[in-house]
Amino acid sequence: MKSRYRIAALLLLTGMLLACLPVLFSAQQARKQAIRERFAQLDDTAAHLERQVRDTASLLRQLRQQMHARSDDPCSAEGVALMQRFVMSSQIVKSAMFLDGTRVLCSSNSAVTNNLLLGPPPVVQPDGTLIHSQVRIRGIAQRQYVLLVKDGYGLLAYPDGLIAPFSRPNVSMGLFSTHTGAWLARYGHLQEAWAAANGPAAGQAHYLDMDSGYMVVRRVVPPGTTGTVVASPLASIDTRVSQFAHWFLPAGVLAGLVVLGAAWLISRRQLSARAELLHAINKGHLFLLYQPVFDLVDDTCVGAEALLRWQHEDGKVVTPDLFIPFAEDAGLIHLVSRRVLELVVKDLSGFLRQHPGFHISVNLSPQDLQSPRTPRLLADMQAAIGPGCGCFVVEATERGLLERTSALEVLLAIRGLGIELAVDDFGTGYSSLSYLTTYPFDILKIDKSFTHTACTESVTSSVADHIIDLARSLGMRTLVEGIETREQATFFRQRGVRYGQGYLFSKPLGAAELFAFVPAHSRPDQHARPAPVGPLPRRRPTPD
Ligand code: C2E
Ligand code: MG
Ligand code: MG
Repeated sequence: MKSRYRIAALLLLTGMLLACLPVLFSAQQARKQAIRERFAQLDDTAAHLERQVRDTASLLRQLRQQMHARSDDPCSAEGVALMQRFVMSSQIVKSAMFLDGTRVLCSSNSAVTNNLLLGPPPVVQPDGTLIHSQVRIRGIAQRQYVLLVKDGYGLLAYPDGLIAPFSRPNVSMGLFSTHTGAWLARYGHLQEAWAAANGPAAGQAHYLDMDSGYMVVRRVVPPGTTGTVVASPLASIDTRVSQFAHWFLPAGVLAGLVVLGAAWLISRRQLSARAELLHAINKGHLFLLYQPVFDLVDDTCVGAEALLRWQHEDGKVVTPDLFIPFAEDAGLIHLVSRRVLELVVKDLSGFLRQHPGFHISVNLSPQDLQSPRTPRLLADMQAAIGPGCGCFVVEATERGLLERTSALEVLLAIRGLGIELAVDDFGTGYSSLSYLTTYPFDILKIDKSFTHTACTESVTSSVADHIIDLARSLGMRTLVEGIETREQATFFRQRGVRYGQGYLFSKPLGAAELFAFVPAHSRPDQHARPAPVGPLPRRRPTPD
């Protein structure tokens, strides 16, 4: 019961976790999409800003061309008038001037140029243009200007005027000097690191500043002295994310519900398969067939192996390979094994009282070999059939034994009941042979896969020989499974193997068929000897 709920809970939990995945994925997609869209907007603004910067730089070229086109002194009344007209045609340029070094000789606006504070030395561009980036005007302390000078002609620009037309809520902008990393113009929140030549944003068109929580677009304007930064807080995309989520999330939730539904269906099917098997156990739909075991030397039937079958209500018979692993997973194997022992009692009690020396093998699962209940159930079976009636063998596969010390106690207790132990399907499980010496096995059953290759040219044809030698050196009897031909029977008999079973002798039989089969294939009174009562002697290395 516990295991049933564990399986259902595990499946539902997995389903719920899986169901969350599409929702999380769609939320993440919505955010990614919103970020992509916002970066595209910032790119657009940065491109406009860049165009403005380039246009401003070309103004100085135009001024020089117009002044050079005239022949008289730049500071003549006509020259100054031209400079004034030039300034009036631009929104960014505050003053045009003619300089001798850093001394202004004449300008479009002497009130401005008389009070000019040039600040630190200029940066010289490759084409010889001087850029004074921290120019101030005495009396207007809060404003910072840029002065571009070439061939003595200068333009005083107010860069904040460049970015003002693009200012928007939640968007910060800045122009910076790529030489100094200083801001030439700025609007909104800007980090110094974004302008720095070796800052984290340098060399990246798109930069996500997780420390400050900003998305940053940074460009260097050709020829490379000025850069633009446009940034926006990540938090500002929340509205956009929620708009996207409006579409993505329902799809995610829907996908999640589909996954959850599938998990629910699977868990239901698991539970219903379990309920079906439980029903089969309780309603007597499990039954046993018995496959005769032969003495290869005198060709007589010495015993039989009990093999379980499940008859469905539609009449179909299911073999154990299909439901034993499920019973093990579903925690029902103890009930199945208990039912097998009950069936042995029900089918064979009368027969074994008449043939007390007849051998009966039952297969137990790894979990049975861990359970202290198993020896008790076997003792109950012996008691119900009658003391000394039947020689019993428990078959265990290798997978139930490896690294499980608790199996040893159970196996010793079983042997203490006078029941022999056999390793089933030997050679098909794990490669470690240590358990052959750890556990008190009496019989080694050679798997039918080796039987089938023994008389062939196959690479595994010699494995059977090695297994026979191994069993002999450990003092164990060998039994060969799956003998289908006379040739195979002769092969193993010649190698000293005493017992065998397989279709050559008989397919698994119903109980009534077995009762008819045994007298026809054994000597009179062959099974009259009662089984030894009490614990078996310690296994000693003896030849077969
Ligand atoms: P196993 O114990 O090795 O049983 C031998 C299997 O080989 C049986 O299949 C049998 O029908 C089949 N067989 C016998 N002779 C021949 C032959 O000449 N040629 C071929 N090709 N096959 C042959 P089955 O009955 O389907 O059982 C399969 C396995 O299911 C068994 O292998 C055993 O491990 C397990 N099993 C059977 N009954 C029980 C049970 O009551 N409890 C548990 N826990 N496992 C069982
Ligand atoms: Mg078996
Ligand atoms: Mg086997």
